[in-house]
Amino acid sequence: MSDLFDRLKAAAGPGGYTEDGAEIAPHLEEWRSKYKGRSPLLLKPATTAALSAILAICNRAGAPVVIQGGNTGLVGGQIPLHGEVLISTARLNRIRALDRDGMTMTVEAGMTLAAVQQAADQAGLLFPLSLASEGSCTIGGNVATNAGGTHVLRYGMTRALVLGLEVVLADGRVLEMLRALHKDNSGYDLKQLFIGSEGTLGVVAAATLRLFPKPEESIVAFAALSSPEAAVALLGRMQSAMPGMLSAFELMPRRALEFVTAHIAGTRDPFAAPAPWYVLIEVAGAKSANLTAALEGALAAAAGDGTVHDAVVAASIAQAQDLWKLRESVSEAQKREGASIKHDISLPVAAIPAFLAKAVPAVLAVVPGARPVSFGHLGDGNLHFNFNAPAAGDDPAFLAQWDEAQQTVHDMVKEFSGSISAEHGIGAMKVASLPRYKSHEELDAMRALKAAFDPKNILNPGKTVPPVLRL
Ligand SMILES: Cc1cc2nc3c(=O)[nH]c(=O)nc-3n(C[C@H](O)[C@H](O)[C@H](O)COP(=O)(O)OP(=O)(O)OC[C@H]3O[C@@H](n4cnc5c(N)ncnc54)[C@H](O)[C@@H]3O)c2cc1C
Repeated sequence: MSDLFDRLKAAAGPGGYTEDGAEIAPHLEEWRSKYKGRSPLLLKPATTAALSAILAICNRAGAPVVIQGGNTGLVGGQIPLHGEVLISTARLNRIRALDRDGMTMTVEAGMTLAAVQQAADQAGLLFPLSLASEGSCTIGGNVATNAGGTHVLRYGMTRALVLGLEVVLADGRVLEMLRALHKDNSGYDLKQLFIGSEGTLGVVAAATLRLFPKPEESIVAFAALSSPEAAVALLGRMQSAMPGMLSAFELMPRRALEFVTAHIAGTRDPFAAPAPWYVLIEVAGAKSANLTAALEGALAAAAGDGTVHDAVVAASIAQAQDLWKLRESVSEAQKREGASIKHDISLPVAAIPAFLAKAVPAVLAVVPGARPVSFGHLGDGNLHFNFNAPAAGDDPAFLAQWDEAQQTVHDMVKEFSGSISAEHGIGAMKVASLPRYKSHEELDAMRALKAAFDPKNILNPGKTVPPVLRL
């Protein structure tokens, strides 16, 4: 082992590794403290060549590795659960190229999403991927998880924002695919296989990203409604009234607003009277589109027929930020309120009201007294279908019911033709249950890809791709 570690340390170069437990410790636990790992060695290559040398050594030795970007993943994929060598992309953090006219930027995997957004902004352009974790998560992690976030409705998931990739394979070979091409039908689109592969097929070293013109203005509104049915109806109405302009449509229940205003400083309920549900709406475009008037008009029409109870349209950037804060603070407020059981699911948009009507009571039958907090990216059909522990509940006893509650939810998601993971991935959290929800044929295709790209099973072993069950 010491010979293997010596070779790995030499490949990583000076400043490129640590065996110091205190330095490694923050990399072993994730945001929710749900997964805790262990690792004897943290490697921090600063170049693709160093990354390639490290993987070649590990592959020859059959030594498993776990890849970590910003450690904000929510399914445990980035945690070395079995003492694997940990590879951090933190030092792969340079901008390699920025083409203003072509609207593309090539960046290394360890750059944070916020730094990428900022670089695009300084060039007068927009990189639209936006997540609450953007200060810490990395572009490599975003690619590896095919991250979604708040602007998918208009710009798509990460998959739609990537033109090219540089990927280091398990055996150290480099797939150089950093092409800034919008059209490329020269055979299989290999980069797409690595997007969303959660570090199990290869390591993303760099990405060529699509940039966009910055919208001249964006207008934010917050509306109070009586039901998820009204929210779905309002979404359709907004899409028709302002085609292509809707950039966010986020749903949250009254309980989420109460948690936020109770726990997050500087937030307040924008309305005098409570309502059962709320949506945050963002529209963006050219000033000539007169978005404020269009949005106000659409909301007034919706109020006229009872779809909307009340609405506020932000009159300044500060007011818009205050409204966004209500939505973006839900996860943090839920955490401060105590333990919660969480599900990241997607459904056909129109099925969401019926799903909520059926799935909430089903979970409450398993976990009596739990407090439902279903919020999320309604425009994308993505719900964070969460339940907080009963107000005076015992957190460990509540959390012990996670698996049963999750199976109840996921079975119902299948019944409604949805997905058990909308944007967070499979990782360690859902790998055991995936065979219940994917066909044998899909699972076999996943295993065949894994075997082709990582025949020695060294990349994030045991995550994302379920093993064949031997009876
Ligand atoms: C507060 C909060 C809000 C969030 N909001 C959203 C949201 O709205 N939408 C959303 O999609 N996600 C969200 N997430 C989840 C998370 O931020 C994303 O999954 C993000 O893309 C992970 O990036 P990371 O750099 O932190 O990756 P990590 O957590 O380090 O890793 C995640 C996975 O990617 C793999 N990986 C990381 N880097 C590479 C690489 N270079 N090559 C190959 N594999 C790699 C890891 O092995 C692991 O399997 C949120 C998380 C938090 C904590």
